[in-house]
Amino acid sequence: MDIKTADSLKKLPPYLFVEIDKAKRIARKAGKDLIDLGIGDPDTPTPKHIIDALNKAVKIPANHKYAMDAGMPVLRQEIARWYKNRFKVSLNPDTEILPVLGSKEAIAHTPFAFLNRGDVTLVPDPGYPPYNNATILAGGKPYKMPLLEENAFLPDLKKIPASILKKAKLMFLNYPNNPTAALAPKSFLKDVVKFAKKHKIIICFDMAYSEMCYDNYRSPGILQISGAKEVAVEFHSLSKTFNMTGWRIGWVCGNKDIVAGIAKIKSNMDSGIFQAVQLAGMAALKSNTSFYKNMARIYEERRDILVSGLEKIGFSINKPKATFYIWTKIPKGKNSMKFANELMQKADIVATPGVGFGKFGEGYIRFALTQNKTRMKEAVKRLSSL
Ligand SMILES: *Cc1c(COP(=O)(O)O)cnc(C)c1O
Repeated sequence: MDIKTADSLKKLPPYLFVEIDKAKRIARKAGKDLIDLGIGDPDTPTPKHIIDALNKAVKIPANHKYAMDAGMPVLRQEIARWYKNRFKVSLNPDTEILPVLGSKEAIAHTPFAFLNRGDVTLVPDPGYPPYNNATILAGGKPYKMPLLEENAFLPDLKKIPASILKKAKLMFLNYPNNPTAALAPKSFLKDVVKFAKKHKIIICFDMAYSEMCYDNYRSPGILQISGAKEVAVEFHSLSKTFNMTGWRIGWVCGNKDIVAGIAKIKSNMDSGIFQAVQLAGMAALKSNTSFYKNMARIYEERRDILVSGLEKIGFSINKPKATFYIWTKIPKGKNSMKFANELMQKADIVATPGVGFGKFGEGYIRFALTQNKTRMKEAVKRLSSL
C-alpha cells in the first residue's frame, strides 16, 4: 500500500538540522572529541530531593492509576503558592492553572483549541519551532513577526498589517527568549496587553526560562500587567529550571477560558501526568532558593568564559542576563548553516545555526552553555585557533 501522510505534514518547514545531525553522527563514529553546545538541555542532573520524592511516590499504588486530567489539586495549589511568591499575582488553582506534560505539549495543543481554518497565529522569527508548526498542523496560518537586533529582539507590533490583524487569533511570545536571550521590559508587555485587547488576540507567553536569570535580573511575567488576565496565558516548565527535561511537567496559567479551551483539547489527547511525577514536581516547586542561585552561578561562570573568549576573537556579544544561550552574529556574508558546519569540521564544536529558528535567524549562531567550565575553556581554545 502507498502510505500517504496528511497534507498538513507536507506543509511543515524542512527540518534544517538534518545536516548538522548527520555531521555529528559521523564525527562521533570517527571518535572525534565533540563539544556539543548545540542542544538546550541542562547537563547536570535533577536535584536529589526531587528524585527522592519520585521514589517515594512511585511506591504508592494509588499513584499508578490514570491521573486526573486537571492535575492533582495539591499540585495546582502548590503552583499557585509558588507563583504568588514569585510574581505577586494570585491565581485560582481550580480555574486558572492547568498542569501539562511539559510546556511544548501545551504550546502545541493550543492552536487546536482556538484556530479555525485560515485563522492566523502571530509567531516570532527566530523562534521556538512549535509555535509555527502546531499552527500549520491545526489548519491555521503563521504570520512571522521578525525579531530584529535593532529592536532588541522584540516584535514591532505597529508593523503587523491590518489585514493580518483581522484574522489573527493567537500571538506567541517568549521572554527570556530562546534563541536570542533577549528580555522583555514591562513597558513592552503593557503594549502587548493593550494591543491584544484592541485586536482581540489571545497572548500565549512562553516562560520556559523565567528562573534562568543572572546578575540579579528577574524576568517579569505578562500576568503582572494589569488587565492581562483578560487576554493572556503563560506557559511554565520545570524542565530548564530544575534540570527536569525528561520528566515532562509544566503548567499553563492565566485567563480561565483560555485555560479551559486548552484543557478540553488535552482531555481528548492525553490522560494527565503520572501522579508520581506530579508529586515530584511539587517537591521541585518547594525547593529553596539556594538551588536556583547555585545553578545561576554555574551558568554565569560558563557564560563569562565563552563570551570573553568569543570577544577576544572578534565577535561582538551582548552578555545575556537570562537563558543559557549566547546568540551572536557570524562573520559578514557567511551563511549560518555553512558556518556551523565549519565549526564542526575544523573545531569539533557543535552550535546551532540561526536559520534553524526561522529566516530572520540567518546571520546568527546559537551556543548553549550546556558543558562544564573545563569544556567551555577547551571550546574557547579551539575557537581561538581557527
Ligand atoms: C525548552 C523550551 C520549552 C519546552 O519545555 P518543556 O517544558 O520541556 O516542553 C518551551 N519553550 C521554549 C522556548 C524552550 O526553549
